[in-house]
Amino acid sequence: MENPRAKNSTETNTDYVAQGTAANGQIRALAVVNTGIVEEVRRRHQMLPWASAALGRTMAATAMLGAMLKDKDRVTVQIVGDGPLGQIVADGDAHGNLRGYVSNPHAQVPNNSQGKLNIREAVGEGHLWVIRDLGLGEPYSGSVPLVSGEIAEDFASYFARSEQTPSVVALGVLVDRDYSIRAAGGLILQLLPGASEGIAIILEHMLKDLPPISGIIDGGGTPEDIIQEAIGDLEPKFLHRLPLRFACTCSRKRGEATLIALGPKELEELILEQGMAELTCHFCQEQYVYTKEDLESLIDQIAVEKATD
Ligand SMILES: [Zn+2]
Repeated sequence: MENPRAKNSTETNTDYVAQGTAANGQIRALAVVNTGIVEEVRRRHQMLPWASAALGRTMAATAMLGAMLKDKDRVTVQIVGDGPLGQIVADGDAHGNLRGYVSNPHAQVPNNSQGKLNIREAVGEGHLWVIRDLGLGEPYSGSVPLVSGEIAEDFASYFARSEQTPSVVALGVLVDRDYSIRAAGGLILQLLPGASEGIAIILEHMLKDLPPISGIIDGGGTPEDIIQEAIGDLEPKFLHRLPLRFACTCSRKRGEATLIALGPKELEELILEQGMAELTCHFCQEQYVYTKEDLESLIDQIAVEKATD
């Protein structure tokens, strides 16, 4: 069967989530490399390093949240801050499909006192939302106020406060001089129910000397290598690999539905004023052009649907 999403879907073979356990099942470990996908999104949105870092980190966490889902479940992460980046949105699913965008991909802020990209400043103050659509009608959503704006700590705060799961989260993106993405990925370690006090203390201490994620990936490291470097002493067991791909759910047909929803009057006006309609997908920047004839046939379609109501 022809892939209906071929135009806005890209598979890489280095981007995937590795999932496992450690310390005899007391810790859940997930790690991800998403360098190829972040580069794809950077190219599509012409993102500057601030957007690439913030969105790349958010997408790494979203990919790992997706890997924890089942079947047709989807997860959307929204970081709504008052900084120059505006909204950061990423969504993913249990099959490794991942997409995302930032409202202002060209936002810039001065470097922080350590001479690094100041993501905290670029994101600002606000909230992190996690919306899980488990196919049961109303999606489940939880939010926490941003505690740092650097994103990894914000996800750790979300897991602790909204899901009562003590977690260590590390996320990293390395942007090259030409703004291309050299490395992107992340790590989540979570205490599973029944974990001993001792393991909880070890995990807490781990926060201080986590390996630099983007450095491991830049050196050719895989998600398994990230877990090994972080908790090799706790005998990690690797259970699953979830390959990731950049994929958007937009299509010409979905664009038609958007136009139909405008109603016949608006469509007539579009024909008169522009002679056509052009829709651009927020997520993947794919453009869909509808000619005068296309719009006229949509108006006919609305009339037929009305008549058969
Ligand atoms: Zn799209």
